Amino acid sequence: MNLSELKTGQSAVILKINGLGSFNKRLTEMGFVKDQTVTVIKNAPLKDPIEYKLMDYEVSLRRSEAELIEVSLDKIAPEPHMEQPVEVKREVTEKRKSAKQIKVALVGNPNCGKTTLFNLISGLNEHVGNYSGVTIGSKDAEIQFGGYSLVFTDLPGTYSLSEYSPEELFVREHITTDKPDIILNVLDATNLERNLYLTCQLIDIEANLVISLNMFDELQKREDKFDYQTMGTLLSVPIVPTVAKRNRGINELLKTIVERYDQTSESHLGVKINYGLYNEQHIESVIKLIQDENKSLYPTRFFAIKLLEGDALFLNQIKDEKILAAIAKEQAAIKRNYGETAETALADARYGFISGALHETLKKSTNERNKSTRLIDSVLTNQYLSFPIFLGIMWLIFYGTFTLGEYPMMLLENLVGILQSFTKDILPTGAVNDLISDGIIGGVGSVIIFLPNILILFLFISILEDTGYMARTAFIMDKIMHKVGLHGKSFIPLIMGFGCNVPAVMASRIIENRENRILTMLITPFMSCSAKIPVYILILGTFFPNNAGNMLFLIHIAGIIIAAISALILNKFVFKGKDKPFVMELPPYRMPHIKNTFKHMWQKGSQYLQKMGGVILVAVVIIWVLSYYPQSEALQQQQAHNIAKVEQWHTENTIAGAENFKESDIAQINKTKDSLIHNINFKYNTIQQENSYLAQVGKTIEPVVSPLGFDWKIAVCLTAGIAAKEIIVSTMGVINQIDADSEDGSEKLQERLRNETYTTGERIGQKVYNKAVGLSMLMFTLIYFPCIATVTAIHREAGHVKWMIFTVIYTTGLAWIFSFATYNIAKLFI
Ligand code: GDP
Ligand code: MG
Repeated sequence: MNLSELKTGQSAVILKINGLGSFNKRLTEMGFVKDQTVTVIKNAPLKDPIEYKLMDYEVSLRRSEAELIEVSLDKIAPEPHMEQPVEVKREVTEKRKSAKQIKVALVGNPNCGKTTLFNLISGLNEHVGNYSGVTIGSKDAEIQFGGYSLVFTDLPGTYSLSEYSPEELFVREHITTDKPDIILNVLDATNLERNLYLTCQLIDIEANLVISLNMFDELQKREDKFDYQTMGTLLSVPIVPTVAKRNRGINELLKTIVERYDQTSESHLGVKINYGLYNEQHIESVIKLIQDENKSLYPTRFFAIKLLEGDALFLNQIKDEKILAAIAKEQAAIKRNYGETAETALADARYGFISGALHETLKKSTNERNKSTRLIDSVLTNQYLSFPIFLGIMWLIFYGTFTLGEYPMMLLENLVGILQSFTKDILPTGAVNDLISDGIIGGVGSVIIFLPNILILFLFISILEDTGYMARTAFIMDKIMHKVGLHGKSFIPLIMGFGCNVPAVMASRIIENRENRILTMLITPFMSCSAKIPVYILILGTFFPNNAGNMLFLIHIAGIIIAAISALILNKFVFKGKDKPFVMELPPYRMPHIKNTFKHMWQKGSQYLQKMGGVILVAVVIIWVLSYYPQSEALQQQQAHNIAKVEQWHTENTIAGAENFKESDIAQINKTKDSLIHNINFKYNTIQQENSYLAQVGKTIEPVVSPLGFDWKIAVCLTAGIAAKEIIVSTMGVINQIDADSEDGSEKLQERLRNETYTTGERIGQKVYNKAVGLSMLMFTLIYFPCIATVTAIHREAGHVKWMIFTVIYTTGLAWIFSFATYNIAKLFI
């Protein structure tokens, strides 16, 4: 029978896994191997995925994945037996140049407390460098200890060093190319069996190890007895118990690292994992085959093991056909003997070694495990309560990010405004003044004002991740999201998209699988962000005043439908529909560490400022230049002349006839003067704008958008909207000679739009706007080019400029097609 057939509460022993390569690898590293016992905990509210207990933790699988695992109800798991590891002496060939610096890399499973430990250590520190490149990255921190300078690197969490995920490759590469002096392997003490799998691989790669036995408090609370000294001797690795959350054991850990480094700077004793007599023979044969071939940075034994496992990255390095054939023969021999691929045989041997070693050192208490987590889950993933609670939490995040975020946002906006008028006043008038005040301060200001939203959002995300609820949201949402090829976790970024696409794209980081993450980013822009709402309202108010509310709702739904269809299409053609394994750990609920959470939040926020600031600054300056130039001298003179005339009229009236006027008359005259000057300036700005390069651009692209029913003015507004969607309406106001600041500005604008006619071209005399044009504009605004901040975020988060270019072309192209269809169909009926 297979695993999906088990009923809730039933346990069975694993016989075999039938999936393909990468799926198999993933399951193996999560602990789904022969002879392990699995218990069904519960089904997700929509019956898929299913939560299982395995080793000492909870994991969820899609039903389709569980079907690939053969299990037996009657089989009894065999008694663990350990092959004694073999001691070896290792020479350190390459002596490090600056012996006073120790490079330490943190490696461990997700959720074992690496980041907590890292932050704790770097909290004592001088400087924290942030090298987080794109999708996966590392962080460095340097501290002084025991006469050495220790440089710590926090690496992404991994379950193994196979090539299943980019994170694993990244860690593997970091270890070989960066050559850390010490690998600090962080273990979750409550989940040793699975955590030690990675340790075995680190031993294979001949890393100089120190183990931090983290979460030691939880182990003690359970009253398990772990003889870690014996385990340390067995592995020839020093093991230090720590509680990163409560700053316990850190000093001891640092001391051990320095000691280990001192002892081993020339040579050190290590062990090799014994894969059993039979496997070892084959490993030896492969080592002999490749002894002279291994030009890589990896130790030969590790290389040989990877070749036997069929790791493509290593096989590709062997060019000699004869050797490849000989390796294939060794693999076949293992398979004949074991009845499984060599990869599975070696993984089983590793787990065999671990369970044997734990059998001798770990005495588990009979106390019920993860009791509080089960209790919390009985509510949070309950069949009936889970969705209402989830939606409530989503609402809270959304509300918090965008509504509460509005207050600090307004404050920042005002500060930017004050700064702007300050520079306007103190700098001499002219282009430099305008560039600094409007272009640079305005541009950078437009980025900074989002900072509160971003900080609040990341605060929520940090809390969700650190408590363990994030994995539960994926658990309950996966069935729905999977229908369009997405992961359960995609839901959160998509919902955020309704507020602002920039944090939404950044929120997609929570998705581990790279392709799923990129897919989520690419469809996020179809979630109508809040900046588009003023455009919708203006157009709906102008042409569909009676149905505005319903139509606003329909537009948002249309966005969701387009996103879903896009996901299906992209999944099929761009990502080739390879179904990524869902297999996901459901970590126990934990109280988040407040200091860490805020640190986390601040890191994300400052990254946002650094990364976005530069690009947006350039973009805004370009748009500003386009709309500011050319300046006509004749016009400027005319403007000055007109203003002078008003001033003269004012002086004549107030001074010359001063005796005859009452105070109220003077006030009236002053008011008239102000309004006249305002009108002159406004008119001048409008003419200038109409002649600007931006307007010329609009007229150039008019032929492209006229099939959609747009004139050059709409083209300009939509072009300006590339910088930020907020700009569309304000540009419309300016271009249609409406004073957007005046109180009845928006009503006047609607009036103007209804009456606007073509003054040139073949449509001369016709109305520019009608219902069909309005619908077409709505469609276009919904779909086209997300703002510059969003595409920049996509570039940064997806890690390649091609995804940004793709987004620009795909969204704008799709917008054109949809608008064209909408316009032409609507014309038939309206
Ligand atoms: P990472 O994924 O390995 O970086 O793990 P994190 O540092 O994000 O920690 C995961 C969770 O474990 C957080 O909620 C931490 O507060 C918590 N945590 C970290 N260290 C300990 C510890 O020693 N004891 C306990 N009880 N919790 C810890
Ligand atoms: Mg981490």
